[in-house]
Amino acid sequence: MPANQQITELTLPLFDDFHLHLRSGNALTRTVSDASFWARRAIVMPNLQPPVDSFDLADNYRAEIIKNIPAERNFEPLMTLYLSENITTDTVKQAKERGIFAIKWYPKGATTNSEQGISSVQACYPIFAEMEKQELPLLIHGEVTDVDIDIFDREAVFIDRVLIPLRREFPNLKITMEHITTARAVEYLCSLPETEKTAATITPQHLLFNRNQLLVGGIKPHFYCLPILKCETDRKALLQAATSGNPRFFLGTDSAPHAQNKKENSCGCAGCYSGLNAPALYAQAFEEAGALDKLKNFACKFGADFYGIETENSDKRLKIIRKENTIPANLDYGEDKVIPLLAENKIHWQIERI
Ligand SMILES: [Zn+2]
Repeated sequence: MPANQQITELTLPLFDDFHLHLRSGNALTRTVSDASFWARRAIVMPNLQPPVDSFDLADNYRAEIIKNIPAERNFEPLMTLYLSENITTDTVKQAKERGIFAIKWYPKGATTNSEQGISSVQACYPIFAEMEKQELPLLIHGEVTDVDIDIFDREAVFIDRVLIPLRREFPNLKITMEHITTARAVEYLCSLPETEKTAATITPQHLLFNRNQLLVGGIKPHFYCLPILKCETDRKALLQAATSGNPRFFLGTDSAPHAQNKKENSCGCAGCYSGLNAPALYAQAFEEAGALDKLKNFACKFGADFYGIETENSDKRLKIIRKENTIPANLDYGEDKVIPLLAENKIHWQIERI
């Protein structure tokens, strides 16, 4: 048994979530309250309808988020723009002074509300060149969307066809491969020289589950997300990467709620809701790897270092306690319900703010 199986409690700084969907409207009551319980900062994804692809839309969205932060919390949304046809090199030039943290590129049709994405990567090259100049990070949903590429291969094909040429073309552009899901992605990231500005976020569901969880014994829509859960070899590679202490890998939950009826549907939406208790889920995964001592840097340091922002230092702390508890069956979500990841299952970690 690994030594840190004996750890029964961790006291850590509040986390940084470097990939979070807060949604909009009355969903914000739930999503902002849940995330701000355990996160001090989060990179907020811009795939709303319409997409957040102008400074005005980002300002309005930030104001909506801030309105929903519970009184005693100190939570900072790091705003992103959605790379649509509306983003120009002028937008990129002004982005930092307009409070934009990064730009997110969704290949057209890759996930929820990505219809406005740009399908040709070459069409984005002038934007990427300006981002490189302005030192504005590029966040990528790294999957090709070609109909002839199998859904389980889309990330690996993206790396070879799109990411490697892109990396070569813009050597100084800071790139984050969001929510990596494959051994291929891990192998690629680990092969890069130390000076390469490429990193990756990893979700709790991809550390905890493989595709059996989604498909064996009946289809389980609340485990359906994009990129889709992969096989056990991939999960193990991700777990190894997350717990290796390699600073290229850091926390991004990709918590992405949908109302229950949008998931339990003949054409169900992609996304898992981990915003309620993501630190407990990560603790469960890190414990499996015997690496609870590696959670702090993964959750609180490596991402901040990559983006060149200060490590979180608020006086609030997060306590992660070994204590069996059952995840609620459902949660209020505006006028609907959302089913949290692992609903009605027992996990043996829980979180407290101190
Ligand atoms: Zn996402």
